[in-house]
Amino acid sequence: MTTQQPSDLHLGVKILHDPVRNKGTAFTDAERQALKLTGLLPPRIHSMAEQELRVLGNVRAKPTDLERYLYLIALQDRNETLFYRVVMNNIEEMMPILYTPTVGKACQEFQHIYRKPRGFYVSLNDRGNVREMLQNWPHKDARIIVVTDGGRILGLGDLGADGMGIPIGKLSLYTACAGIHPTQCLPVMLDVGTDNERLLNDPLYNGIEQRRERGAAYDELVEEFISAASEVFPGVLIQLEDFGNSNAFRFLKHYRDRTCLFNDDIQGTGAVAVAGVIAALRITGGKLSDQKLLFLGAGEAGIGIADVFVAALVEQGLSAEQARERCWFVDSTGMVVKSRENLAVHKLPFAHDHEGCDDFLSAVKMLRPTAILGLSGQPNTFTEDVIKAMADINERPIIFALSNPTSMAECTAEQAYTLSDGRAVFASGSPFDPVTIANQTFVPGQGNNAYIFPGVGLGVIASQSRTVTDEMFLAAAHSLANQVSDSDIERGRIYPSLARIREVSALIARDVAKIAYDNKLTDKEEPEDILADVREHMYKPVYPHYA
Ligand code: NAD
Repeated sequence: MTTQQPSDLHLGVKILHDPVRNKGTAFTDAERQALKLTGLLPPRIHSMAEQELRVLGNVRAKPTDLERYLYLIALQDRNETLFYRVVMNNIEEMMPILYTPTVGKACQEFQHIYRKPRGFYVSLNDRGNVREMLQNWPHKDARIIVVTDGGRILGLGDLGADGMGIPIGKLSLYTACAGIHPTQCLPVMLDVGTDNERLLNDPLYNGIEQRRERGAAYDELVEEFISAASEVFPGVLIQLEDFGNSNAFRFLKHYRDRTCLFNDDIQGTGAVAVAGVIAALRITGGKLSDQKLLFLGAGEAGIGIADVFVAALVEQGLSAEQARERCWFVDSTGMVVKSRENLAVHKLPFAHDHEGCDDFLSAVKMLRPTAILGLSGQPNTFTEDVIKAMADINERPIIFALSNPTSMAECTAEQAYTLSDGRAVFASGSPFDPVTIANQTFVPGQGNNAYIFPGVGLGVIASQSRTVTDEMFLAAAHSLANQVSDSDIERGRIYPSLARIREVSALIARDVAKIAYDNKLTDKEEPEDILADVREHMYKPVYPHYA
């Protein structure tokens, strides 16, 4: 008599519980026989298209976006291939659920909606053990890590360990938008405590029970993590995400030459917003070098945009100093000018020798910008007076209310269009519905970083670049702007349709990879057809055949 091995006995059950291999009711008869699945599934075999229909029906029947988020994450935990098929085929509908604004709500509720672990947690208490812990990650071929310390989640502030929803969401977008294989994506939370009282007082909070560490122990943990990750997963691309602003600038500067690393909040935002400005000029007319940008908010996003804008003007022949004179900032203490004391280091290059003022409206009137960009995390700050002043100064004012989530946008799409008599070229960070005024429909652009980071990541991975350079983000901005069609522009839309995101990402990746080859940032030989090589790296959500 032969005895069955437990591993053999449970093969079918194991496969059904493995989201990477599970096909649910799509397993064929032959597969059910071979994998010991007979009896464990209802007899009817469904195609993936039928499974997708069922999922869509369920998602749409949910009463709230948060419920939709929970349903989709549960699907991701159950059957990853089907999850990505649904997301990719319905990206415009799914992105606001898996990313901003719903992911913000999910992070705020994380301690209550928590079901199943996803991603990798490293806390202050793990110092000294990070390299060993990373060996526990089940997939040995991690190519992209998105890591946060939860310090500044979207525009929602410190959410501590509950910020994990952001790396998870961003990596889902890497797969959905650029085809990075799901098993190559590693979401990481560096839990260094939180100063969020609501979380500290909630017994269900998932993070360590202590205030946010800001001293040497914090820096040591970041150092240990980045060194260990680069060692355990050689060549891995690390994306810093939603760190508080002084840490974000500091770590980017410190690690970018040493490791393959970038900061999406700074550099990705820079590229997506500059692409929007370049595309907007097809509506407003005028040259890039004639634009004057006035930012509300001088943090990671605002300075990141200004840096890419300066690089774009330098490319056109301006000196860096001349280019910086086209960028002006108002932050929480007023206009950023030379005479202000104790300005943060990242603001200094943009502190002009000019009379200051306390409020944004005065700055608009004084500087007469062609574009205003909101990155303050403060809603209703592009007031009626501000929008009207911009419409008085410019025939076609550029108004970007980029703060996330939707509730934090500096103004709504409707306000921008109505108060400018339909003349504003508007974009936001989170999506707004089209607005109809006097029979004319305006389609707001969504300056979503998802247009940029997946393509940049794909380009870096495909080319095996050792570093991520500023030039790559400028190239990504041009690539994105070039992909806005004439029909998009006719509808007032300055970003391509999200439905085209995989193609957009592939072309961005090609341009990013080209920079890696041209600048010898990689040991890989330049392929004859870079785009074809990039496409070969793109995952498709198709079930494998097991029998
Ligand atoms: P940050 O904390 O680094 O910077 C915020 C800045 O806003 C600071 O300079 C602060 O002084 C300023 N500020 C705060 N209150 C203000 C007020 N009342 N008036 C004027 N300025 C004020 O944050 P960040 O990373 O730069 O992000 C800012 C916002 O931009 C967030 O809401 C974020 O979600 C959004 N964002 C959008 C995109 C996008 O749309 N693609 C990308 C990144 C960030």
